[in-house]
Amino acid sequence: RLEIRDIIRRYDGKPVVNNVSLTIQPGKVTCLLGPSGCGKSTTLRIIAGVEMQDSGSIYIDGNLICDTVVRVPPERRSVGLMFQDFALFPHLSVGENVAFGLKTSASEKRARAKEYLERVGLAGYIDDYPHQLSGGEQQRVALARALAPKPRLMLMDEPFSGLDNRLRDGIRDETLELLKEEGTSVLLVTHEPEEAMRMADEIALMRQGHIVQQGAPYNIYNAPADREAVAFFSDIN
Ligand code: ATP
Ligand code: MG
Repeated sequence: RLEIRDIIRRYDGKPVVNNVSLTIQPGKVTCLLGPSGCGKSTTLRIIAGVEMQDSGSIYIDGNLICDTVVRVPPERRSVGLMFQDFALFPHLSVGENVAFGLKTSASEKRARAKEYLERVGLAGYIDDYPHQLSGGEQQRVALARALAPKPRLMLMDEPFSGLDNRLRDGIRDETLELLKEEGTSVLLVTHEPEEAMRMADEIALMRQGHIVQQGAPYNIYNAPADREAVAFFSDIN
C-alpha cells in the first residue's frame, strides 16, 4: 500500500503539485487522470524518487520512504517504471535490456529475462536488438524489463500513447492482465478519460496541482465533482 501525504512541489515559486494526498491499494490499478500540465508526471517522479518534493511524505506499507529529511533512493523503493519515452537501450540485446538492473549472477539474469520475455510472448527475441522489433514489441520488452525485478508498485506515465490505436488496445489489456497476475499495484498516469475508465479500479482526478475527486470509475463518471469534471469527461461515451 502506497500512501502519499500532502505533497507540494513548486517550480519558480509556483506550486505545480499542490497538497496532493493519495492512497494506492495493493493489487489495484489507480489512474491519475487529468488534463495536460496539471502535475501528473511531476507527482509520479516524486513517488519514483527521481525528483524531490518541497514538503509532504510518502509511505510504502507503513514505512516512511521519503519526507524532507528521510530519502530512500529510487532503486530501493521496489517501484517499476514505464514511461512513454523510457526507451530500450539500443546497444543492449533484448535479453540484456530485460535483465538490466537485476542484481544476480549472469546465468540467473538470463533465466529471468527468458521467463519475462515468455510472459510477454517474445521468448524468441532474447538475442535480438531493439531496432529489429516493432514499436509494439519494444513496448512489451519494456514491460518485461519493468516487471523482471518484481516491483511491488508499477508507475506508468502514458506508456501506451506512442502506439497506434489498433495495437494499443491489445497491449493495454495484456499489460493489465500480466500486472494482475503478478499482484503488482499500479499507478497509471493518463490524460485520456477513456483509458482511465477502461483500466482503473480507482480514479484520482487531478487539476491544477490538486486531486479534485477520487473513487471508482463508475462513480466518478456518473457523479463528477464539478462542471469542469463534467466537461472533461464529456468527450467519451
Ligand atoms: P502532460 O499530460 O502534458 O504530461 P502533466 O500533468 O504530466 O502534463 P507535469 O509534467 O507534471 O504535467 O507538469 C506540471 C507543470 O509543471 C507544467 O505547467 C509544467 O510546465 C511545469 N513543469 C514541469 N517540469 C518543470 C521543470 N523542470 N521546471 C519548471 N516547470 C516545470
Ligand atoms: Mg506528463
